[in-house]
Amino acid sequence: MDRDSSPHKVGLHFNFKSVEDHPAGTLSNYPICELETVGNPSILSSFNGSINVLKILVVGSRSTIYLGRLPGQKIEVVLKFASKESVIDEAKAYTENAEIQGSLIPTLYGVLVEAAQEGSPRIACLVLERFGKGLPTSFVELESTEKAKILDMLVASHRSGLLHLAFVENHALVKDSQYRLADLSYVKRHEPPCTWNYKFTEHVGEDACTEDRSSGCEAIWWAAEGMLFWNANKLRLYNSYYVKKNDDFPSQEQVTKMTTHIGSSLGTFYRREDLIELYERYFRAVKIAIEIDKAWHLDKGLTYEPPFPEANE
Ligand SMILES: [Zn+2]
Repeated sequence: MDRDSSPHKVGLHFNFKSVEDHPAGTLSNYPICELETVGNPSILSSFNGSINVLKILVVGSRSTIYLGRLPGQKIEVVLKFASKESVIDEAKAYTENAEIQGSLIPTLYGVLVEAAQEGSPRIACLVLERFGKGLPTSFVELESTEKAKILDMLVASHRSGLLHLAFVENHALVKDSQYRLADLSYVKRHEPPCTWNYKFTEHVGEDACTEDRSSGCEAIWWAAEGMLFWNANKLRLYNSYYVKKNDDFPSQEQVTKMTTHIGSSLGTFYRREDLIELYERYFRAVKIAIEIDKAWHLDKGLTYEPPFPEANE
């Protein structure tokens, strides 16, 4: 970031009511405030008028994210308010990864700080491109094809030298099935360079990774393992037990809905393998019960209406 650029004044007009305290509410003259650019102001120096701030998107422990609209334009932006130090640090990370802005990470439009008063400025904000939304579900619940796209995006960021040390759902943005990484608060340079060569979108539905975990990249391997990418052909029983999918079992949706407490003998110590054996027996029985119910309906000329989806039937 070019620190020699002279500051440019930028207005922020907060156009919403909030019952809760929020960081921008402490700015001078709130809700009609004036901040100034730090470093190279890029596009923030090119417009007149105020950024219209429409609402709070995310309240975090270290930062608060607002939705804004650039003056005279329909372009939406994200304003991430945090302490000045952390905003400057994160802006540096964006600048160091300029070549992947707009493709793997959002574009940084500039940084604003409260105009100097007594003492040093207290808070600051990053003004970023608004790209899509946060993930609607956990990584584990995503379709395998979407997991693969996210993982390939993560690999591309590694190959560009960015090591994101907080790869969690909140930091993955999605728009039209395209993904980007958000929040560069905890990033490092990938040293030595990433050598991961496996393309996840070419391995959807496979049970094991052909890439050597130690010679590839442990961070990528763990990200895929944490998402259960290689569990696409497994059925999840009781949230954390996996067995190979088989026609003897109901669908995943049915299993999730029909889960009942199993392993009920007070005097028995059930080992993990004992529980898996019991769960498998139980869900085979569930599958038979569903078939009996369907056959009974057929005999009576009635329509069987399942209380759960039958996508895998
Ligand atoms: Zn890597």
